[in-house]
Amino acid sequence: MTYRAPLTEMHFLLDHVLNAARVAKTPRFAEADADTVAAILGEAAKLAENQLAPLNRAGDVHPARLENGIVHTSPGFPEGYRAIAEGGWIGMAAAEAHGGMGMPMFLTSCVNEILASACLSLSLNPLMCQGQVEAIDAHASEALKALYLPKLISGQWSGTMNLTEAQAGSDVGALASKAVPNDDGSYAVTGQKIFISWGDHDCAENIVHLVLARLPGAPGGTKGISLFIVPKFIPDEAGNLGVANSLHVVSLEHKMGLHGSPTAVMSYEGATGWMVGEAGGGMAAMFTMMNNARLGVGIQGLSQAELALQKALAFAAERKQGRSPIAGGTGMILDHADVRRNLMVMKAQTQAARAICLDCAISLDLAHANGDDAMQARAAFLTPMAKAFGTDTGCEVANLGVQVHGGMGYIEETGAAQVYRDARITAIYEGTNGIQAMDLVGRKLGDGGAAARALLAEISETADGSPELQTSQTALTKATEWMLGADMNDRAAGAQPYLRAFALTLGGHYALKAAAVDAARKPLADFHLRQLMSAVPGLCKMACEGAAALYADPLAAS
Ligand SMILES: Cc1cc2nc3c(=O)[nH]c(=O)nc-3n(C[C@H](O)[C@H](O)[C@H](O)COP(=O)(O)OP(=O)(O)OC[C@H]3O[C@@H](n4cnc5c(N)ncnc54)[C@H](O)[C@@H]3O)c2cc1C
Repeated sequence: MTYRAPLTEMHFLLDHVLNAARVAKTPRFAEADADTVAAILGEAAKLAENQLAPLNRAGDVHPARLENGIVHTSPGFPEGYRAIAEGGWIGMAAAEAHGGMGMPMFLTSCVNEILASACLSLSLNPLMCQGQVEAIDAHASEALKALYLPKLISGQWSGTMNLTEAQAGSDVGALASKAVPNDDGSYAVTGQKIFISWGDHDCAENIVHLVLARLPGAPGGTKGISLFIVPKFIPDEAGNLGVANSLHVVSLEHKMGLHGSPTAVMSYEGATGWMVGEAGGGMAAMFTMMNNARLGVGIQGLSQAELALQKALAFAAERKQGRSPIAGGTGMILDHADVRRNLMVMKAQTQAARAICLDCAISLDLAHANGDDAMQARAAFLTPMAKAFGTDTGCEVANLGVQVHGGMGYIEETGAAQVYRDARITAIYEGTNGIQAMDLVGRKLGDGGAAARALLAEISETADGSPELQTSQTALTKATEWMLGADMNDRAAGAQPYLRAFALTLGGHYALKAAAVDAARKPLADFHLRQLMSAVPGLCKMACEGAAALYADPLAAS
């Protein structure tokens, strides 16, 4: 089965459900008109289908390897990376002043989905670069911007993000890496970082690490953290590569999936770095990168759902097994009601995830273009949902995809198993989905519920005439009010079911809008509303149960 970019679906969603044309009406993004969007998506599809998709399996069976201190990536990856860089795809959303295209996030997100479906491991590299470019542009000095941004945007250099240490994963504030000022304004950075994606490789000539570390005497926790640019090779002012910095790859991890992406343990030994932003402002600067990356990782999850769906549909249309009682079927397993249920769940959930991710991206674009605080709050509320629901969908749809393949799903040749293994990390990195849900019920309801209520009001407008959506909207409104009055651990206890209930309800809201424009979409909308969304009242009940029951059982083996 060959991956095909879902261009018709993307265009329909952007044009008829999410009204992406609003973005091109702003002076900031006037260039992103319908023709430009179509041309860009068409080009991305060609690159993905013809050049990147054939690399996906090579990355899985020939993982990146560390030999004599040098990381060699999977066969074809350096060429694939160059093709992505030369197409300008790394700098799509970056400022034109530094060599980017200045395109809106919704378009970048569509392209990122296409590239990630084709080859998730390889596409993680440009995704990290995009986040790094955004963080440097927002927080670094003009001199650092001038030196680093054009090279990162062109792909000549690539970027990484270094938060995690052995004792500091979800709790970034526990990190221990140190940065000591040098006499010339630079810093000596020392520490060990683990799980660094694309921490070293042979695709770009320099690798720029963004590293979180503490200055001497800095307070504990996140307040004492600063951010540093630490290049593998130290460039001169003109960007020519100089001496190798004092850092090295200790080892590469052996992983469940995502084999083509080198995941490195990095050691910094008094490496020369330059501070980005203010002393103690490291988390704020890193959050610029992480917010971009959270939406980006949600899109990664979506990309794997789309890939799993395409594989399962193709398989189900060709595999003959048993006979279905229906008249006029194809004679293939596609006719069986249970197989169709799996495929309908896969399709409905994938479309819901795409709509949430792109709605989030459009809100970011409108907030950015118009300086609109309400849009910013809307985007902020949608971000943990895009990440967690997008990636849960990736994992769940990939799992169903294996099931549709039967035994062949467990055999590596079909590729269904790789999607299942590759998708799994997306629910973990960039803040686990549990952490995302807690962000939703904690920080994102911290505006007194304004952003949540605004979204619930939007849903309510679509719900006129749909008893299912009305029921979910009412249950969700009650759960939201309960959350706002509950203490933090009670909220945390119900955070995941609350996030899922919200995402499924939003999915129904988008599906109804789609069906109102195109009658052919009504059956899928009905399935979403009557079946997937029937879980919402139950999820809302779970969300409001509080924490006590979770502590009543000691959990330890009896
Ligand atoms: C393949 C791969 C690539 C990665 N790439 C990068 C990278 O490029 N850069 C980088 O810096 N890091 C990277 N990471 C690290 C990744 O972001 C972390 O693994 C992730 O944030 C979780 O941290 P942890 O592994 O320490 O798990 P832990 O924080 O130990 O979490 C374990 C469990 O406890 C839960 N938990 C922890 N704290 C809380 C809390 N306060 N409340 C509720 N539940 C909690 C979590 O949800 C999880 O279920 C990568 C990891 C992998 C595996």
